[in-house]
Amino acid sequence: MVLGKQGAGKGTQAVRLSRHYVVPHIATGDTFRAAVRSGSKSGLKAKHYLDAGDLVPDEVVNGMVRERLSHQDADHRGFVLDGFPRTVGQADALMAMLEPHRLDVVLNLEVDTSEVLERLASRRVCADCGANYSVHDNPSRVLGICDVCGGEVVQRDDDTESAIRRRLELYERETAPLIEWFADRGLLANVVGSGPPDEVTDRLVAEVDRYKRLAGS
Ligand code: ADP
Repeated sequence: MVLGKQGAGKGTQAVRLSRHYVVPHIATGDTFRAAVRSGSKSGLKAKHYLDAGDLVPDEVVNGMVRERLSHQDADHRGFVLDGFPRTVGQADALMAMLEPHRLDVVLNLEVDTSEVLERLASRRVCADCGANYSVHDNPSRVLGICDVCGGEVVQRDDDTESAIRRRLELYERETAPLIEWFADRGLLANVVGSGPPDEVTDRLVAEVDRYKRLAGS
């Protein structure tokens, strides 16, 4: 699974890892945004948390992930988890869900706060498929139109200054303690998240392979 601040590149890198290992990419943020777009009851409930940059309550997220992990693809081939767990309560629940298996590795993508703030301000996403762009480094080929699916490329509703501040505050309070939590369990790999995206991917793949070798899988 991939851990890191908002804007550290978790989403971009998690998609690349899922293609490399041919396993599903499970991103709780994407699932919530899709639920909001669909206008379902659960989507409406999630919307006010997302827009404010608040965390969705653990029971809701845990239930959603438990359901997704029970699908055959994740059960057979493994998965890349992106944006979950974000609290110690979620991490406990995840370990219990995976029994008798465990995670191969937790990749902690390290990027300075000053850099993530710049990245978040220039981040744009496809409203349909969630593909990520940056107005500076990685714009879509046609302005406002997604290269992957032709959907509309927009700024996320929660990439406003106040929601970003709130998300980073919650990251420090709720999620950063997981770094030590996973290190204590021998699962943590720190990876430098700045620099060209391809180099970051190579570093992540090297860590995953190293941990898989250690586990003999
Ligand atoms: P970011 O990492 O930039 O905040 P995500 O797409 O991962 O973006 O998440 C967007 C929002 O979805 C979060 O601010 C939160 O409201 C909700 N969310 C996603 N994952 C979780 C989670 N594991 N626990 C609680 N809320 C979550």
